Amino acid sequence: KKITIAIDGFSSTGKSTVAKGLAKKLGYVYVDTGAMYRAVTLYMMRKLFVSNTNLNEEAIVRHLPFIGLKFIFSEEAGFGEMYLNDERVEKEIRYMEVSEQVSKVAAIPQVRKKLVEQQQEMGKEKGVVMDGRDIGTVVFPDAELKIFMTASTEKRAQRRYDELRERGDEVAYDAVLKNVKDRDFMDSTREDSPLIKADDAVEFDNSELNLEEQFDKILKIVED
Ligand code: C5P
Repeated sequence: KKITIAIDGFSSTGKSTVAKGLAKKLGYVYVDTGAMYRAVTLYMMRKLFVSNTNLNEEAIVRHLPFIGLKFIFSEEAGFGEMYLNDERVEKEIRYMEVSEQVSKVAAIPQVRKKLVEQQQEMGKEKGVVMDGRDIGTVVFPDAELKIFMTASTEKRAQRRYDELRERGDEVAYDAVLKNVKDRDFMDSTREDSPLIKADDAVEFDNSELNLEEQFDKILKIVED
């Protein structure tokens, strides 16, 4: 019987690596909800020049109906890649500029409402692994398996920094660390669906376990 797996946690806790691996092992669909918030943010940055000093909530809400989001499965990548109005934006949405704005855009209730509805639609057939901040609390409060991932701030910043560097982004470690801390703060203090662990979520501290160990633990829970 197929189930719904919700994976939540702070930035760069390794949620997506675990979620992708699980989806592959179980033959489930993987949905990266952070990519959706990032794509909306990219759109608003291009259209409305959203920046640190410029965030017009009303204008953002007005532009929401013109955003079409889609995941298209890529054989090569092994997961669904993010498309914004038919443009593949998988790379662009990971830029630091987007990371710096996304938590502010994601705090707008109308943005959340639109994306949560789409996520619920994508997961209604079961057999889905979804990662984000509010999956176990808001999107699928009835998910059969909820995982809450944590790891030390420094470990997470290092992981994110390595990823960005590997892709050739010229970022400084301090900027990445600051961004991780800023997003932690904004994501856990916003009024609408703040990041909190669902009561029935299993907590994983990812600082100590390697990927293999995590899978073993999680698959054991899935099998039970
Ligand atoms: O998962 P990722 O780090 O790519 O998410 C980027 C940002 O999108 C988060 O920092 C958060 O502000 C927002 N987000 C959210 N709810 C989700 C997923 C992401 O608010 N379910």
